[in-house]
Amino acid sequence: MSKQVTIIGSGFSGLSAACYLAREGFGVTVLEKHDRVGGRARQFEAQGFAFDMGPSWYWMPDIFESFFADFGKKVSDYYELERLSPSYRVFYPDGPVDIPSDMNELYALFERMEKGSAEKLRQFLKEAEYKYEVGMHDLVYRPGISIMEFMDARFLKGLFKLDVLTSMSKHIRRFFSNPRLIQLLEFPVLFLGALPQNTPALYSLMNYADMVGGTWYPKGGMVKIVEAMHQLAMELGVKFIFNADVSKISVENKKATVLKTDIDHNGFDALVSSADYRHTDKVLLDPAYSNYSDSYWESRKMAPSSLIFYLGVNKKIDGLLHHNLFFDEDFDAHAKEIYSTPQWPAKPLFYVSCPSKTDPLTAPEGKENLFILIPIAPNLEDDKATNDHYFDLVIKRIERFTGVPFKEEVIYRRDFATRDFITEYNSFKGNAYGLANTLSQTAILKPALKNKNVKNLFYTGQLTVPGPGVPPSLISGKLVAEQVKAYLSVH
Ligand SMILES: Cc1cc2nc3c(=O)[nH]c(=O)nc-3n(C[C@H](O)[C@H](O)[C@H](O)COP(=O)(O)OP(=O)(O)OC[C@H]3O[C@@H](n4cnc5c(N)ncnc54)[C@H](O)[C@@H]3O)c2cc1C
Repeated sequence: MSKQVTIIGSGFSGLSAACYLAREGFGVTVLEKHDRVGGRARQFEAQGFAFDMGPSWYWMPDIFESFFADFGKKVSDYYELERLSPSYRVFYPDGPVDIPSDMNELYALFERMEKGSAEKLRQFLKEAEYKYEVGMHDLVYRPGISIMEFMDARFLKGLFKLDVLTSMSKHIRRFFSNPRLIQLLEFPVLFLGALPQNTPALYSLMNYADMVGGTWYPKGGMVKIVEAMHQLAMELGVKFIFNADVSKISVENKKATVLKTDIDHNGFDALVSSADYRHTDKVLLDPAYSNYSDSYWESRKMAPSSLIFYLGVNKKIDGLLHHNLFFDEDFDAHAKEIYSTPQWPAKPLFYVSCPSKTDPLTAPEGKENLFILIPIAPNLEDDKATNDHYFDLVIKRIERFTGVPFKEEVIYRRDFATRDFITEYNSFKGNAYGLANTLSQTAILKPALKNKNVKNLFYTGQLTVPGPGVPPSLISGKLVAEQVKAYLSVH
């Protein structure tokens, strides 16, 4: 009989690990606490609206393509991708600016906003292309187990060009001085969960992904990626057990042996947890087997949490695009309230996704599907009154900028905030997307893929290498599968 691997969780990283391990001929079983796959990227339906619960930006299409290519498949075998044009709309205090998908139009936009900046953007993106090539096609595939992984000629020779020791903030200001252009280039860093001042300039690779790689949309929603991976996993023979909430990992002779759910699950040779790393480490395992101490976890810088509103609106809202960034308030003040002095923000920036602008499958005819996200500090107490306050605040601002009153036309509303991240995903401090990508939490300095006290226990997902986001989660599943394969080849 083939060796058996059990995976806790069926988000992107768990699904990816399942596919790679099944491809190697292992018998793979996935235990998922929810009634369906997808984790943070599940979709739910209500009153004819289909809401993607988490990710909405499809960036780095090459990473998705290379995931499916590893199984002899193509993205187009599973879902239909469309490049959005314009890519997105930014609302500044004096009105909206559309970010074009066409590079010539983008250079012209920069030039209009700051004289001489088109040429500077060319140079900035040329450097960013190198970082994308090395970062996303090489560095992210290194498992971060030993510093020796980074002692090769390509990395060392390129270290200077990769800008690992400069901050995004300084790097961008070397090229541009217009505050709006700076804000535009700093925005993708928000995905990485840290201030531009604390994020290595290596991550201008995100600007390359944004401006050159483009913003894409899978018809039917981001859930189509989840469905594709689920289908692939089943084609490869992976078994799924839903509504299986693992409450304990038992260890005997330094090996994980039993998973406690409603019924005990055992008979596996290796175990991969794609659930929140800290939850696996500190809640599912007895303290003697944790990889990290309480003080280690308390000292980690978490990415923000979010207050999200899923809204069904009984009319169309002209003035919004598929992706909309409300940068009409002070970026630094909001950033301080997330990172330096954690508190509910006074005048938050926020993001609105309106997939019904592109995709009629997401809302009934004549209606609009809105996903509104306010980034907030992790671990804030949330309650109905607080949510209501922010609901009024964001609706007013959207109404003001679009000129379309719609508060009374909201026919469906669901709120999702810190405590939902905790109850739904066992998320540490209610973080939405893992650990902040600061230099001191990068590569070998991230929580490790392997448990050092339990020989057959491995971790994957947004809190370990390579980091948060959908493409890194796919890669994380591949990295952990390689570790498990190496372990099982000798045990
Ligand atoms: C609101 C939001 C917006 C985002 N936007 C983007 C975006 O636009 N683009 C992008 O690239 N990324 C985005 N991200 C980040 C991206 O979605 C995540 O990094 C990625 O989905 C994480 O995948 P994962 O497999 O690590 O974790 P998860 O998706 O959390 O999967 C973990 C799974 O484990 C299960 N689980 C947990 N505990 C247990 C247990 N005890 N027993 C059994 N099962 C358990 C959970 O139910 C879940 O299914 C966003 C994230 C959020 C939350």
